[in-house]
Order: sequence, then C-alpha cells, then structure tokens
Amino acid sequence: MNRFELKQVVKRFGAITAVNGVDLAVAEGEFVVFVGPSGCGKSTLLRLIAGLEEISDGEMQIDGRRMNETPPARRGIAMVFQSYALYPHMNVERNLGFALETAGMPRTEVAARVGKAAGFLKIEHLLDRRPAQLSGGQQQRVAIGRALVREQRLFLFDEPLSNLDADLRMEMRVEIARIHRELGATTIYVTHDQLEAMTLADRIVVLKDGKIVQTGAPMELYERPVNRFVAGFIGAPRMNFLPARIEAAEAGPRLTILDRSHALPALAYRGEATLGVRPEHVRLGGGEVTLTGHAQAVEPLGGEALIHVRLANQQLIVVKSQGRPAVKAEDPVTVGWSSADAYLFDDAGDAIPIGAAS
Ligand code: ATP
Repeated sequence: MNRFELKQVVKRFGAITAVNGVDLAVAEGEFVVFVGPSGCGKSTLLRLIAGLEEISDGEMQIDGRRMNETPPARRGIAMVFQSYALYPHMNVERNLGFALETAGMPRTEVAARVGKAAGFLKIEHLLDRRPAQLSGGQQQRVAIGRALVREQRLFLFDEPLSNLDADLRMEMRVEIARIHRELGATTIYVTHDQLEAMTLADRIVVLKDGKIVQTGAPMELYERPVNRFVAGFIGAPRMNFLPARIEAAEAGPRLTILDRSHALPALAYRGEATLGVRPEHVRLGGGEVTLTGHAQAVEPLGGEALIHVRLANQQLIVVKSQGRPAVKAEDPVTVGWSSADAYLFDDAGDAIPIGAAS
C-alpha cells in the first residue's frame, strides 16, 4: 500500500452535504494535515477514508484499488481518535494487545508487538497501570501505541491532541513527528490548530464547507494563500485585513487604504479590495506604506510583543515586534510595512495576482 486517492468524494447526511466533491491523491509516506473551521467536513472525510462512514458518491482507492465497499478492518488503516477510547478495566498492556488477541494473533507475537510499541513510545514502565492511573499525555501515548501495534502503513489521526494542555501538546507534536520520521507511514491528520498543521505537515489541505480550498506545503500556504480565507486561517496571530480600493490612474493602478494612496505594480483588478498584512510584517515607525494610530493594548510575550493599534478609522491592526515593546498603551504610533509583504484580495476574497497586465 500506501498511496491513496479520493476521486470526487461526496458525503451526504440527509439534506446536509458534509463533503462535497473532494479530489485528493496522497503519496506513500506523506504526512497530510486536514485543517479548517468547525463543521468544514474534515472529520467526516477522515471517517470516510477509515471506512467508518459510507461514501455517498465518488471513489476512494488504495494503491489503485477501489475501497468503497471494503470494511475498515481490511483497509490496512490504523486510527487514533480524539477521545482515547481506552478500555478502563484493562491495564495498558492489555489495551495495547487486545485487538490483536481478538483477531487471533498468537500470544507470543502479541507480546512482541506490544513490547516493541511500548519501547518505541517510552511507556514500558506503565504497562501494569489502568487508564485512570495515567496522565492525559500518557493515555494519548497508549492510544497511539494501540494504532502502532497493528503495524499498518496508513495512520489516521482525528484531533489527537485537543484534550491536552499546551505543554503536552507540544511534547506530543514532537513525538508524532518522530513517529512519522522513523516509521515513514503515510499519515492523515485532522486538526483545527493551524500550528499543528504548520509544524507536522508535508502538505496541508484547507477545507471549507466540505470542499478543498487549497492544498500545499505549509510555507506555500503561508506565502501564497489563494484567498482571504486561507490567508486568515494560516499564521498566528492571524493576518490583518484592511479595506482598500484599487483605481486606475494615468501612471498605472493605485491602491488607497484609509486616506493614503500609492502606486501598484501592474494588475488587472479595479474596485473594492482588501489588503492583508501579517502582524510579523508590520513595523512600528512606518515603512513603504505608513498609517497612524494609537496603541490600544500592548502584550509583552517575553521574546516578542503584540501591539494592538487602533488606526484613524478605528480599525485595529496587530503588530508583532521582537524584544521588549517600545510603546505603551495610548501612545501615538505609526505603523508600516513593505508592499512586498502585503496581499491584495478582490471583492470576492480571491487573491489578486500582481504582475498580471493592467
Ligand atoms: P469539528 O472541527 O467541529 O469536528 P469538522 O470539520 O470535523 O468539525 P464534521 O464533523 O466533518 O466537521 O461535520 C461536517 C458537517 O457534517 C457538519 O455540518 C456536521 O453537522 C455534519 N455531520 C457530521 N456527522 C453527521 C451525522 N452523523 N449526521 C448528520 N450530520 C452530520
């Protein structure tokens, strides 16, 4: 196995279309992360791949073979859920081995696989404990171990870290990256956390309303979002958006933001637009494009600070600055950025290609 493909996959629940014509090919060994807001269909898509839901239309293939009718157990897939779903009355060792035992695997083989997974996940010292005697992070390791012992080549993770606190999330994120690096298994991972998506994925699939909006490597999505939705979803704190207008002038198109206007490179679009600029690209003190306002709140985060600036039109813009913040709340400030760091979106929210003939 391990290449799998979705072709025009649709899932309907009565009148609701949860997945609406998804095409996706995943290569062997790839780590693909599905992200999107609540209700966008990412969990449903994962459940369709696992075989826990029936595909309404379209096809799923593994290594070129149609899988729509293949039961979950025969798809060569191991899944880790958000709720760890451990058996409370069994100790860790039995939790790890139970599915293998019930599938009729000889005891010695079960013990060997459990030992190997426990060693790999560093939970050998927990084998005698029951789930209630484990921390959240330890329980999650056991849940991952239960997928590992099945020795499948396709792993599905459904928001596996959402029940953990921030420190543990980071620890388990690093652990999941290590598991993928060392096993090289094809992995599909669902999350609504863009940080997990950015740090784990070879490729991110952004979903909205049951459809793929954009797929690409994390930095590709960060640098070249196809529309305002992706631009706002990838990157934290999220991109600032300001209303703008693109008008024709004799010397070429001009962009007006608040009361400032400047020349643009060649582009075809004219009309209402949105300018997007990430907090890390906005500087205090101005830049090529400069606006004035007042610092409304200053949040020092240690190595960096977030400065919330209220502009003359009352709109807020967030500035991420390095080191100790140079301003305090209520100070008048000037913010600016380089036009190369700014994005433009048309009135439908689609990215405006810059450089296209005007
Ligand atoms: P979340 O991040 O909140 O889990 P999600 O992106 O995973 O969201 P899904 O759980 O896939 O979203 O749901 C997609 C849509 O399908 C939603 O509108 C949801 O209400 C609907 N849906 C999901 N499962 C069912 C079901 N069994 N019956 C009816 N509607 C469902």
